[in-house]
Amino acid sequence: MSIADNLKTVRTRIKAAARKGGRDAGDVTIVAVTKTVAPERIREAVASGVTCLGENRVQEAHDKIAAVGRDAQWDLIGHLQTNKASLAATLFDRVHSVDSERVAWALDRAARKEGRRLPVLLQVNLSGEESKFGVEAGATLDLLRSVANLEHLAVEGLMTIPPYFEDPEKTRSFYRRLRELRDEAAALALPGVAMTHLSMGMSHDYPVAVEEGATLVRIGTAIFGQRA
Ligand SMILES: *Cc1c(COP(=O)(O)O)cnc(C)c1O
Repeated sequence: MSIADNLKTVRTRIKAAARKGGRDAGDVTIVAVTKTVAPERIREAVASGVTCLGENRVQEAHDKIAAVGRDAQWDLIGHLQTNKASLAATLFDRVHSVDSERVAWALDRAARKEGRRLPVLLQVNLSGEESKFGVEAGATLDLLRSVANLEHLAVEGLMTIPPYFEDPEKTRSFYRRLRELRDEAAALALPGVAMTHLSMGMSHDYPVAVEEGATLVRIGTAIFGQRA
């Protein structure tokens, strides 16, 4: 299957899931995840209508953006270390993975130097798995209040990576919980904070995530095929 064919399938399934969830498919953006994918294949995805690309490593993105260009926006979806914050603030259009005050401060400082306000999402660890990054659910609103005070970051929503289940239906409770947490966060009505985005859903479970309210689905293998 070509990348264009894969995208067609993904879009069809997003439409069906949106309908099932009583949502508008136009509110769902595909973030095509480009880790390990060669520049010419990334360009092929952009030529097929992808408007947002997701990378999980800062250094890898640096080289890829130079090769692919900026016809689509670039989002950082992987864990960010504070020593990479400066580079991240110059490269990315949005960061999905802010999970501590330390990272937020470092990004804010870097964004100030760049003279920009950087859109960010807070990454939430809903499973309590120690191997996963993300702020605990119970600490999310406190982190939000503190990040909301940073002038050079614009909080746009929440992101999560649930545990892997063979059966995608088992991820539903995590996606529902993230939506509820987003609603609680939106109810705080913090100035400068727009809780519009839910970054959730990957290749094996994005229809469930869309049914539960995802606005950004991070999809790699279902678009580009198995990673080498
Ligand atoms: C790799 C990755 C994805 C995409 O995974 P697929 O299963 O290939 O769709 C999504 N989100 C993050 C954070 C990733 O690292």
